[in-house]
Amino acid sequence: MKILVIGSGGREHALVWKLAQSPHVTQMWCAPGNAGIAQERLSKNGALVECANIGAEDLPKLLAFAREKKIELTVVGPDNPLALGVVDLFQKHGLKIWGVNQKAAQFESSKVFSQKFMEKYGIPTAQAGTFSSVAEAKKFCASLGGKCVVKADGLALGKGVLICANQTEAERAVDEIMVSKAFGAAGARVVIQEFLEGIEVSLHALCDGKTAKIFPTSQDHKRALDGDLGLNTGGMGTFSPTPFLTEEQLAAAAKKILEPFMRGCAEEQIDYRGLLYPGIMLTKSGPKVLEFNARFGDPETQVYLTRLENDLVELLDASASGTLDKIELKWKPQASVCVVMASGGYPGSYAKGKPILGLAEAAQLPDTKVFLAGTALKENQIVTNGGRVLGVTALGKDLKAAQAAAYSAVEKIHFDGAHFRRDIAAKAFPELFCQP
Ligand code: AMP
Repeated sequence: MKILVIGSGGREHALVWKLAQSPHVTQMWCAPGNAGIAQERLSKNGALVECANIGAEDLPKLLAFAREKKIELTVVGPDNPLALGVVDLFQKHGLKIWGVNQKAAQFESSKVFSQKFMEKYGIPTAQAGTFSSVAEAKKFCASLGGKCVVKADGLALGKGVLICANQTEAERAVDEIMVSKAFGAAGARVVIQEFLEGIEVSLHALCDGKTAKIFPTSQDHKRALDGDLGLNTGGMGTFSPTPFLTEEQLAAAAKKILEPFMRGCAEEQIDYRGLLYPGIMLTKSGPKVLEFNARFGDPETQVYLTRLENDLVELLDASASGTLDKIELKWKPQASVCVVMASGGYPGSYAKGKPILGLAEAAQLPDTKVFLAGTALKENQIVTNGGRVLGVTALGKDLKAAQAAAYSAVEKIHFDGAHFRRDIAAKAFPELFCQP
């Protein structure tokens, strides 16, 4: 089978790595890929994965490439091509592609759409309102006592969510999004949610239009600095599973979220085939959905795929074909921890082109995999080329062992200005921090 993966981050490296292990795959390309992806080999025949120099949002070129190479399954990593309709375009031309179509991608591309859907179909979420009027928005913030979260409706590179402690901050946030248009057209409408307190957990479910199969739990670390301080980032590390939700609680949460979700999709004629990633808050009154993403998380993918036992080609093929009910998801019992190493300065401005040393040493450690993200190959040397540079991912018999293994590998890797959190997965061991 010939496969094309779209994207260039750590998530796509993890997808390529796992897909490359399938005996079904004879040739694989990634557009545009990265320096780590270009080093992966297929288990079946030892062939290298090839990177095609086509941007993930260049739909006409991606289509032409897939037709020329006679690609049999295309796998889409990032949200933008999904929101642009890459799935609809490929399907129109008779090509099999995994990922949600444009209508289903609205769950991520429009927070107003998602919020209204959740309310209509009884999915547990925050108390919220959706607004296109500045005055009405500010009035609603006041009704929440100013302690709220103001969200731009559209895609804003993960930056369009402003957490406010009081009415002054809330009014400033509404002005920033709706009047100054800090996020452009994405801010024509806003969702305002009550501020929810609790532990934040990532859920993932693979869907095929009728069936949704829930993954184990994981937790992301969005802030740049230890102790959840600093600016919001794309994600500085993950671990799976989280101890804060038992298997029974996960099954109950999945039922409360996924059943109305699938029922709502059927009623609204949304054919949801792809990955559903709800961000949820475990509040005192139960799990509540903060937002929906319509693709794999990054770096959640890195911890999930190192734990997944199934053949990923078979899973994604079943998701695209509507036959997921015939497949049982199987997971390794080990825990997985991913520590992201970023360029100094990220998520602000940062330098590029710094040589990355120690990758070969880290690769020799057992049960450890380094997924590359913002990297490039320059004169035979892998160098930094983005904010999040790589994700060191390790399995262990439990979270503590996986954490220790991941940080041992991090110690082997060096580049000028490297920044990483030293407390990934530490929140899973609160007893270590709560001693008198
Ligand atoms: P979102 O993109 O909607 O998931 O928001 C980004 C981040 O903002 C989330 O990962 C949470 O940490 C935080 N957040 C979003 N909505 C809320 C809320 N209603 N209450 C508390 N924190 C929130």
